[in-house]
Amino acid sequence: MPTATKEDGFVVFDHVQKSYDGEILVVKDLNLFIGQGEFLTMLGPSGSGKTTCLMMLAGFETATHGDILLGGKPINNIPPHKRGIGMVFQNYALFPHMTVAENLSFPLEVRGQGKSEREANVMKALDMVQMGEFGGRRPAQLSGGQQQRIALARALVFEPELVLMDEPLGALDKQLREHMQYEIKHIHERLGVTVVYVTHDQSEALTMSDRIAVFDDGIIQQLATPDDLYERPDNAFVAQFIGENNTLNGTVKAIKDGIATVDFGDGTLGEALAVNCAGVGSETTLSIRPERVDIGKESGPNAVPAKVLELIYLGDHIRCRMNVMGNDQFVVKVPNAAGHKHLVVGETTKVSWNSEDCRALD
Ligand code: ADP
Repeated sequence: MPTATKEDGFVVFDHVQKSYDGEILVVKDLNLFIGQGEFLTMLGPSGSGKTTCLMMLAGFETATHGDILLGGKPINNIPPHKRGIGMVFQNYALFPHMTVAENLSFPLEVRGQGKSEREANVMKALDMVQMGEFGGRRPAQLSGGQQQRIALARALVFEPELVLMDEPLGALDKQLREHMQYEIKHIHERLGVTVVYVTHDQSEALTMSDRIAVFDDGIIQQLATPDDLYERPDNAFVAQFIGENNTLNGTVKAIKDGIATVDFGDGTLGEALAVNCAGVGSETTLSIRPERVDIGKESGPNAVPAKVLELIYLGDHIRCRMNVMGNDQFVVKVPNAAGHKHLVVGETTKVSWNSEDCRALD
């Protein structure tokens, strides 16, 4: 899917700022263009401004500055119920006194649909979330997961072009949450509806999204596809927040052909892609994934002394925690492949990596 621009974005945040108290900006100059049919996730730690952005798009909060456009039109002055947006939140907010079918029928009634049309659409939406048999139940007679499916069906029943979801799976247990992630992803693929999804759970974001906007402190730190975020983080925050990551601190000694040579403090050198470091003499943090580190290679540009501190057997791989250049939380995933080297706690060895797999960040 081509990346949306400010001109053709279905949802556009154009220089949007938000302050609740007139002083602190909790959203700082947000520029985000979401394509029609895209599944875009706002991911970030608690308090980073994700929900505020979603609430401004929904119309429950107003932007302090800037414009929000939907389908090319500014919506700043359109009330929430006139924006035609479906919404799903963590607390299901189904009407307890109504049956499931009545809950789903309600948004259609509000939109003036006749009885038979309503019944057909309710059935279609219930089937979509595999709850066709449950129309006559009340919400209290359903499990948490079933209630959340109904909430999803209710958000989709009037066939909105845009659905907003804020931590919709937060109250479910792990297994059901993972199952529902796939279900929502498949429904999105089938319907082609645009989804803006908020979560603090990086694996949820990686599983479901076309693109992920990583938020921190009211700013998008990086906006990219899941594999780009994991493979090519722009800065130390994104590298730490997405997936598991090892860091090594050092000083840049040289930069040549995009590769930085870094001194770890005692003359030991390592190499990394010079992604985001200020230049020779500056401090930098090298960032490398646990599955990209080799153990036992004695020479080469990145052969750094390491000591094995802990070994955890995990079936398909062995998780090896090491001390590398003073970092005693350096983790290497050793695949449990035929003939792999057997390590012993306490032994000293070397770790190495391809310079392209290691990123020198700010
Ligand atoms: P997230 O969804 O990433 O957890 P929020 O958008 O909920 O972040 O919050 C961003 C910041 O705005 C936080 O510091 C939070 O305390 C503050 N905030 C959120 N809602 C309100 C509100 N209604 N009034 C005042 N401050 C708020």
